[in-house]
Amino acid sequence: MQDSTSDKEQSVQVCAHCGNENRAGTTFCERCGVALVPVPLATRQLAVDEAARLSSSTLGPDGLIIIQVGSQTVPIMVRVKKEVILGRVTDFSEGVTYINLTPYGAEEGGVSRRHARLMRDNNALYLMDLNSTNGTRLNGEALPASVERRVQDGDEIMLGRLKVYVYFSP
Ligand SMILES: [Zn+2]
Repeated sequence: MQDSTSDKEQSVQVCAHCGNENRAGTTFCERCGVALVPVPLATRQLAVDEAARLSSSTLGPDGLIIIQVGSQTVPIMVRVKKEVILGRVTDFSEGVTYINLTPYGAEEGGVSRRHARLMRDNNALYLMDLNSTNGTRLNGEALPASVERRVQDGDEIMLGRLKVYVYFSP
């Protein structure tokens, strides 16, 4: 570990999800792809109607998704490479992004350290429960462990008692 001066602290942005030190002004973490700056949720996503929601099951070419945790006003935006692990750890491995939900009340919500996995297959996104202690629900339906379910724009995911919404960004 090297000393970090106040100059250094100002010139890097430490990713809360993988711990990478990114250059100042970086929008998406260079290692894991999570947005480092707050991204306001577009009106389209808040006012999405049922018809639009049902028709939108494909990811944009960048694999950009927005994870809205409960009523939090600042969502997590991430470029999905291959996999996203939702849970309570700060970690990284090639192609796998770990979303650390601890600051969002994950512990109180009964979220396991490695709770559920989002997998990208080209423009499709799938959800799988990782044998979590308190289970995963997709739009109210409990997922058996290790079974993949396709996720659509605007879907509601329950990680234990923590509710998150997943939106696809074009
Ligand atoms: Zn990162």
